[in-house]
Amino acid sequence: MARRRLIAGNWKMNGLARDGRALAETVSRGVAALAERAPDVVLCPPATILSAIASVLGQGPVALGGQDCHDEASGAHTGDIAALMLADVGCRYVIVGHSERRQGHNENDARVRAKAKAAHEAGLIAIVCIGETLAERDSGRAFDVVRGQLAGSLPLDAGASNTVVAYEPVWAIGTGRNATAAQVGEAHALIRGELTRRAGDAGNVRILYGGSVKASNAQELLAVDDVDGALVGGASLKADEFLAIVRAGLS
Ligand code: PEP
Repeated sequence: MARRRLIAGNWKMNGLARDGRALAETVSRGVAALAERAPDVVLCPPATILSAIASVLGQGPVALGGQDCHDEASGAHTGDIAALMLADVGCRYVIVGHSERRQGHNENDARVRAKAKAAHEAGLIAIVCIGETLAERDSGRAFDVVRGQLAGSLPLDAGASNTVVAYEPVWAIGTGRNATAAQVGEAHALIRGELTRRAGDAGNVRILYGGSVKASNAQELLAVDDVDGALVGGASLKADEFLAIVRAGLS
């Protein structure tokens, strides 16, 4: 079965309401102009402006996503956001296990899996990020790491309708240095193989590549087997650049 491409923009800790609204408006208009050939598109702004961006996106073709969620439904977790709160503000997706959370907030696979499970319980699609560091790649352990993170981070109920996997080699994130098409192809083939061994329709989960995707390399990366879309950081903050990546994902 053909998988619909997904282009996700992760704004990270960037964006105040006015600029964010303008960016979302331009992206929404650009995606609408592509009509039914457009891939699925999701914007993940900072939590403070989710509500403002939800109003801009409305019922248009671009979905809203959170950048992280807590693994519990509610409680004494100052500063955290529950998956249900994201759903309440209009999100359809949430990123979990981003390397900046794994490294900067000490999140391990078990935590990421619990967050993905919480996302599913709230009716959200979890974008589960995995990927090796440069040291792990240089020491020949990249595939073991990716295999381990995948097994540890996906909840048992992960399937094509509630989960997206993002392969993001840490050394390619925000560095301007993307993985080569051959490196991406190898990693995605490995991930597809692992997903296929899981229960249900997990073999059909979409796999995104993330790591310095930009207008100039999107076409090549999206053409690689088993690359079902892209998770875009820096380039998602520029409407022209992001829309060019979306167009590279046209069907
Ligand atoms: C990311 O944050 O997930 C990412 C891939 O960032 P960038 O595109 O800036 O490398």
